[in-house]
Amino acid sequence: PFDVLVIGGGPAGASSAIYAARKGIRTGIVAERFGGQVMDTVGIENFISVKYTEGAKLAASLEEHVKEYNVDVMKLQRAKRLEKKDFIEVELENGAVLKSKTVILSTGARWRNVGVPGEAEFKNKGVAYCPHCDGPLFAGKHVAVIGGGNSGIEAAIDLAGIVSHVTVLEFMPELKADSVLQDRLYSLPNVTVHKNVQTKEITGTDKVNGISFIDRATGEEAHVELQGVFVQIGLVPNTDWLGDALERTRMGEIVIDRHGATSLPGVFAAGDCTNSPYKQIIISMGSGATAALGAFDYLIRN
Ligand code: FAD
Repeated sequence: PFDVLVIGGGPAGASSAIYAARKGIRTGIVAERFGGQVMDTVGIENFISVKYTEGAKLAASLEEHVKEYNVDVMKLQRAKRLEKKDFIEVELENGAVLKSKTVILSTGARWRNVGVPGEAEFKNKGVAYCPHCDGPLFAGKHVAVIGGGNSGIEAAIDLAGIVSHVTVLEFMPELKADSVLQDRLYSLPNVTVHKNVQTKEITGTDKVNGISFIDRATGEEAHVELQGVFVQIGLVPNTDWLGDALERTRMGEIVIDRHGATSLPGVFAAGDCTNSPYKQIIISMGSGATAALGAFDYLIRN
């Protein structure tokens, strides 16, 4: 059996595997797609000490760094079941069952898509999902935020400080964000809020040039010219396969403590699949290190 088995090969998983392997213990990593969300990213400007890099380049460096160590790397494999018996067992979709004394879950998350024409076509060409990452690219421009929940309104407030104008589109008749966020939003001079509207299309040529939406009460269609669209309708953790094996939040995020420990002894978790706030590369890497050190602590005590 492994001492530490990491599930997921994004920034959190790579960091966990390196920290575990550096303890000289038997470490494995299972990754459906090495690099994770980083593979979908073009420019990265907030990975501290690296002024600018690109997703594919950072993903290759992650893999290269992991391979410096004695880590059993199992790529293109998907975990489908976790169960605690004598060891912790992880079953893969190919039928193999891996056994380990500890497991670190780092299966990440994915942004929920709005699913309208133009969204996929203009991804990274005006359509964005992360205001902390891509906000500065739209300095002085007009952007839309789709979604009036907490993340949408936080994004709108954040962006209003950088861009010239923010148009918020909410499907329901009321914003769902906390009232303190709504108060702050409505105090800003450069924000327009449309409620009870359905996004119809993100328009553009080589990049985004506008957004069309329908007033759900009147059926009237409107088009606003702008340069960017931030989709903020939820980040979905890749944790369905865990079922009731351990505690997850209502949103599906794995609940962890300060050491990265989950509710199931010997199982740790890190990165975007957990209930820790702020989903970023640098934060995922930090939490991967925490989880690996937590797992090592657990091993020397059990
Ligand atoms: P992920 O990167 O999601 O990796 C999850 C890993 O788990 C992958 O290897 C995946 O294949 C694997 N996996 C999932 N399910 C299974 C399974 N059942 N079995 C086996 N393996 C599985 N952050 C920044 O800091 N700066 C940026 O500029 C930035 N830009 C971004 C741009 C885009 C378009 C996106 C989508 C995200 C961006 N982020 C950025 C966020 C950042 O990418 C994430 O916070 C970070 O990648 C999370 O790392 P993670 O390891 O927790 O998860």
